[in-house]
Amino acid sequence: MVEDRLSRLRALPAAHALLAHEALRTLAQTRGDDTVKRLVRASLERARRALLDGSLDGDRAALTAALVADVLTVSAREQEPGLRAVVNATGVVLHTNLGRAPLGDRVLDEVREACRSYATLEYDLDEGRRGHRDLALATRLARLTGADDATVVNNGAAAVLLASTALAAGREVVVSRGELVEIGGGFRIPDVLTSCGATLVEVGTTNRTRVDDYARAITGRTGAVMKVHPSNFAITGFTASADVRALADVCRSRGVPLVEDLGSGAMVDTAHFGVPRERTARDALAEGVDLVIVSGDKLLGGPQAGILAGRAELVARMRRHPLMRALRPGRLVVAALDATLRAYEEQRAHRDVAAVALLAQPLAVLEARARRMAAGLPEARVAPVEGRVGGGTLPTAALPSWGVRVVGIHAAAVERRLRAARPAVVARIESGEVVLDARTVRDDEVDAVRAALTLAVAAGGDVVSTDARADDGDDGSP
Ligand SMILES: *Cc1c(COP(=O)(O)O)cnc(C)c1O
Repeated sequence: MVEDRLSRLRALPAAHALLAHEALRTLAQTRGDDTVKRLVRASLERARRALLDGSLDGDRAALTAALVADVLTVSAREQEPGLRAVVNATGVVLHTNLGRAPLGDRVLDEVREACRSYATLEYDLDEGRRGHRDLALATRLARLTGADDATVVNNGAAAVLLASTALAAGREVVVSRGELVEIGGGFRIPDVLTSCGATLVEVGTTNRTRVDDYARAITGRTGAVMKVHPSNFAITGFTASADVRALADVCRSRGVPLVEDLGSGAMVDTAHFGVPRERTARDALAEGVDLVIVSGDKLLGGPQAGILAGRAELVARMRRHPLMRALRPGRLVVAALDATLRAYEEQRAHRDVAAVALLAQPLAVLEARARRMAAGLPEARVAPVEGRVGGGTLPTAALPSWGVRVVGIHAAAVERRLRAARPAVVARIESGEVVLDARTVRDDEVDAVRAALTLAVAAGGDVVSTDARADDGDDGSP
């Protein structure tokens, strides 16, 4: 038996014979000799193991053909972009694992224009000397939110880190026990706060915190009072959170800044899209919050960024802080955020901010798209479905939509085949059926979805009655 398996190894071609193979000599012209040698060695090693465990068999010619094919496959996979574009058929508009907010064509055109050569990132054309990186952004953000001033860092978590470091390092931050949020991926707001050397002072209880609780906790050591928006969960029942106006009055009279980490921070009223109204930065500032923090790639629909907007002297402290140099965004982000904010200023967000456009689609459009996705496929049933905003935003709100349910075939197998398609199609499994939501599928992706569905269904497979629940990929992280 052992003898038998060892003898199979003799059928393996030698490395130099493979390297002399015409297909691999051609490959070496684009990928280089060293790379092809590495691929051949790895492929031979896999074949050796497969021969020994009996999962591969064949004569010299068959093994040579299999090894060459293997090397070409692995090489092609290595040459794919690290970020592969996928079709999001989950109906989760801000899908954290799929990159959160998509960027629209107009925004991307402006990014390209601002990045392909040189731009006024830190240059004042009127004065002919160094300017401020976030000057244009700050002006737009101030107009859009009603803040005195604003600045931008790499993401929301960086903004929380900067604010707590600048305001409360070596001092205390007062936070409600109901707002000690984990923002996803294992990152917790209390850990971000304490990592900068601030001491956390927890007040109230999980379900109820009153203004008095905060007032009693403020001392000469308090650097800031922080409100954290419960963006990825909801506490219901016997609850109370401090009225922000009353809390702002207390903070002002005690000379302590009130910071609100809003998380999503919509710029438009989400009630227009049939989901509850998400608190905006303008709401928070109008209620007396001194500094608000919002993410760039949640409901705002821009690139990954963290925005700090509020009172001029607080924003100035952020901008001056040494950490700012480590947290500032690059040109790609500045350009994309500026283009996004301009779309809001010019009242064309519903068209040019892709996430807003996805939320604003009428049901009739979604239904028509779902019908095109399912056309000619008896296993694909067009049906009303429910998507979500995602990105940890409006966690309890369902987004009514239209989609396709694949019936009569093993859901896990169909879902896997859709993921293996090119382009990959990411779907959900619900009550043992694969569901594709039309909301997050672009019109120019419909043909690819139908083609992937056709292949996935053609491969067949029996239905299982179990309620297979697949992770929709959104880890709930905001
Ligand atoms: C999303 C979120 C964050 C983190 O923002 P990122 O941009 O993902 O870093 C922080 N706080 C709250 C309340 C959030 O919802």
